[in-house]
Amino acid sequence: MGARLLSRVVALALVAACVAPPPPLAPDRRRASEALEAPPLRRVEERAVTPDWRVDEVRVRLASQERRAEVRVSGTPLGVLEFRREGDAVRSSGGRLAPRFELEPLPGGEGLGVAGRLYPGRLVVEPHGASGLRVTNVVGVEAYVAGVVPAELVLWSAEPAEIEAQAIAARSYALRSYAERRAQTRDAFLWDDTRDQVYVGRFDAGPSAGARRVQARLDAALAASRGRVLLDDAGELFDVRFHASCGGHTTTPARAFPQESTVTRGAVACPPCEAIGRAERALPESDTRTRRVHWSWTASRAELDRLASRLGVGRRLVALRVAARDDYGRWLEVEVVGDGGRRTVDATRLRAELDPAKLKSGLVLRTWPPLGEPTTGGLLFEGLGRGHGAGLCQVGSHELALQGWSARRILNHYLAGAHLGDARAEGARP
Ligand SMILES: [Zn+2]
Repeated sequence: MGARLLSRVVALALVAACVAPPPPLAPDRRRASEALEAPPLRRVEERAVTPDWRVDEVRVRLASQERRAEVRVSGTPLGVLEFRREGDAVRSSGGRLAPRFELEPLPGGEGLGVAGRLYPGRLVVEPHGASGLRVTNVVGVEAYVAGVVPAELVLWSAEPAEIEAQAIAARSYALRSYAERRAQTRDAFLWDDTRDQVYVGRFDAGPSAGARRVQARLDAALAASRGRVLLDDAGELFDVRFHASCGGHTTTPARAFPQESTVTRGAVACPPCEAIGRAERALPESDTRTRRVHWSWTASRAELDRLASRLGVGRRLVALRVAARDDYGRWLEVEVVGDGGRRTVDATRLRAELDPAKLKSGLVLRTWPPLGEPTTGGLLFEGLGRGHGAGLCQVGSHELALQGWSARRILNHYLAGAHLGDARAEGARP
């Protein structure tokens, strides 16, 4: 899901020096920014979540500990314990052998610690694979959200409404994903990395006065969003997506994730991203300021040829052609032409196979050589936005919060058709 907004300017390869000047922005983009001034068609309304979706706590698997031979846990009532695999069971450094260990924290302690992080709730250590272990954090929903939001935002500059909107989006995503998996398997869990949402356990901004102010702002915004989720018309959890920056216009989940989502609404203008992208685009390439929207990247010959072989179209990439774009210019489908064949893939797949951290979005303004022409060396991409572009835009949310928008208004703008609801079950754990 969405990543930190911070990203460094990628120094352009020499090929960038001989490219043509960028084309003017598409007229659609200017029209789109005017649309935001019109009043929203519907408000984010209050709804009650149906009982099927209520979850008190979630199980979060710690990717860093997956299949490790040994796991060390601090903060238990017995102090630090080490665990290792023994046959089909787990042996603790205290000498016990058990099919699995479920660890509670020392009462009054800071929480259980693994690999330099503290975790609220309980930890389960159990066998995994032929010889390894796995660690799962069983954690209350609110404590989980408090460990996700700091990983998603630039916290030192985050506005309260932006934090609140992100918390509601993160909670909705987690509960929906978890409930869907729980309906299919007893072993439902969320990953603590980008396969779901990055989760850092118990977050602590630090001891300095500035850090305490950041922490206080975070805590207050989390409290204000407590239990809040987004629901669809039927009272089920909304298919919430979010991303770092859209580049000026978002897309629908169905377009960004054609295999996963049927949500065909929610493509909206995002004037803040458009303005930032335009300003960043005008900066000289030598300007190393952190950019949030505009990007460029030159894929090397080796990277292009690896793409061709991964997609089974030969050993050498000959050209790329865009087979389908949305109204705003975002690539939807791309034909990859190799020396041994050709294949059309969706833009999400193209990014995943090339390098999603460098080909930062499907909103590519231009390439050099131009699309369809044979590539002999590298291939320059220049584009706008970070991520898949569906749902809540984090740069847009930040900028609109700075302009005084509430969390409710921000969510209403980016997530058309969503209603606000309360996910707290009777007696839910904090
Ligand atoms: Zn945006």
